[in-house]
Amino acid sequence: EAENEISFFFPKEHTLAVIKPDTPEEHREEILKEIQARGFTISQLQETVLSREMAEEFYKEHQEKPFFSQLVDYMCRGPCTMLILTKENAVEEWRAMMGPTDPSKAKETAPESLRARFAKDILENTVHGSSNKQHAQEKIHFVFGEISSESEVVSAGEDEEPPP
Ligand code: UDP
Repeated sequence: EAENEISFFFPKEHTLAVIKPDTPEEHREEILKEIQARGFTISQLQETVLSREMAEEFYKEHQEKPFFSQLVDYMCRGPCTMLILTKENAVEEWRAMMGPTDPSKAKETAPESLRARFAKDILENTVHGSSNKQHAQEKIHFVFGEISSESEVVSAGEDEEPPP
């Protein structure tokens, strides 16, 4: 079957995806549905409010950029939906699904992408995705700790909070 041939060339890999703070609930749900429709497995899903220190660490590569402090403010403004996505070629495919950083560029070059449809501007651009496998591994470890090979699949959107 075609599926099997594809997975022969592209072994399953993990990427870290983040739905950033202030994303309206209906957009968040649409993003989660689309992730599943595109054949990703949501291997982990967690709502996390980043502290300033965590946000600074998460984006430490951008420390020297003029937008760094705004970026950190944005990232700890509210809960982030942290996801481990699993699929053949997951890193690249999730980046393609997000589209370019700047939504005005995304609208021109990738009108179907999430940023073209949902991003407010170049800062508040709705989603994050690791840019390579090395980063994916690092950021997954940072957010979730070591993932086990049998990590639990959380069904998106329908999980209820257990009683305290
Ligand atoms: N960003 C920004 N201004 C810029 C470039 C980036 O505010 O000129 C923000 C934006 O939220 C982006 C994040 O910083 O998603 C990280 O930037 P990067 O260049 O890594 O883009 P990404 O990989 O998220 O597309």
